[in-house]
Amino acid sequence: MELDSIPTNEADGPTPRAGAGSVAPGRPLEDLGHAELCAWLDARGLPAYRADQIRLWLFRKHATAFDGMTDVPRELRQALGREFVVGSLVVQQQSHSTDGTVKYLFRLRDGAVVETVYIPEPDRVTLCVSTQAGCGLGCTFCATARMGLKRNLTQAEIVDQVLEAQRGCPEDTRISNLVFMGMGEPLANYEATRGALEVITDARSGMGISPRKITVSTVGLLPQMRRLMEETRVNLAISLHSVREELRSELMPVNRKYSVEQLLECCRSLPVPRRKRITFEYLLLGGVNDGATDAAELAARLRGIRCKVNLIPFNPHEGSGYRRPPDHVIERFGESLRARRIQAHVRRPRGDDIQAACGQLYHAATVGPGDGPVRPAVNAGSPAGGGFSADPVGG
Ligand code: SF4
Repeated sequence: MELDSIPTNEADGPTPRAGAGSVAPGRPLEDLGHAELCAWLDARGLPAYRADQIRLWLFRKHATAFDGMTDVPRELRQALGREFVVGSLVVQQQSHSTDGTVKYLFRLRDGAVVETVYIPEPDRVTLCVSTQAGCGLGCTFCATARMGLKRNLTQAEIVDQVLEAQRGCPEDTRISNLVFMGMGEPLANYEATRGALEVITDARSGMGISPRKITVSTVGLLPQMRRLMEETRVNLAISLHSVREELRSELMPVNRKYSVEQLLECCRSLPVPRRKRITFEYLLLGGVNDGATDAAELAARLRGIRCKVNLIPFNPHEGSGYRRPPDHVIERFGESLRARRIQAHVRRPRGDDIQAACGQLYHAATVGPGDGPVRPAVNAGSPAGGGFSADPVGG
């Protein structure tokens, strides 16, 4: 299907913002960190405080053009306009779930598409963002894996998912929590993810979302995981899914590079603040990793790590070769962990009627005839996350 033929599903909910349809050429200003913007101003003999003014327009007041930045001098606005643009993606489609979840399909400048999931709850609004178009890590349960890796997203493309979704919110609604669990492996695109986190968490002139409300999920790329914990204060979630080396390698090929043994050893030495816990995501696949022995082994291997476990019942999708375990098996697994003093919660899927639930993010328009799953495609891990009930994560 040609991208341009994908309908904008206005009947599903709010009409996409004006401007949807094309991305202006030029470098998005959202790509610049605070220091880089200050340096740009300095090179023109302009004071650094202008950087805060410009960023506040961009990230707090959600300006979509330089013209509207009324307290910025006209000459400066014109200079910005000659070198930069605002915006790096457009809303291609929105799908609304009966449970209030909204799945955005964003189109990037080069035609690549990514999905972002908006999950409203009574006490918070969570956005699940993507960091890559597709993913190259080939987890066998994951729909996104079927796309392969198209490319890394830029800092601006990550930040703009949040800005666009915020612009679509009702006036009194603010996105409060972020989970980096959409398409892609955030830590395989470390610099852009790190840069986006800086903009998103900057309380002075960025978006001002607290790092305590942000969770970055990874399959366990150990060097980057350590960097993330040293350089940021966000919460860490790790897709585990099995503590048996052979089974985990089957589910997640990355395990052949960073084994369960190495991963858990690394977790024991990570600089996790005292009041925080590492979250382990455990996808429950019927008949694969949901047995009593699996639970006992999991609890034994996690002993001594300050952590909690999120149990995610598999979300079936077309073409998947795995199944969701029956409810009593899911409950029994959780109880078994809790009986062994491991904090465990079962995640309630959100948006599964619009394929926005955990692990269902996949866009057919980006998959060529030769593309396909590495194995009997199934999906649902924690990256490639999509919607789930936004239990308190991390700390
Ligand atoms: S689960 Fe995450 S890391 Fe694995 S293939 Fe899917 S998007 Fe990539």
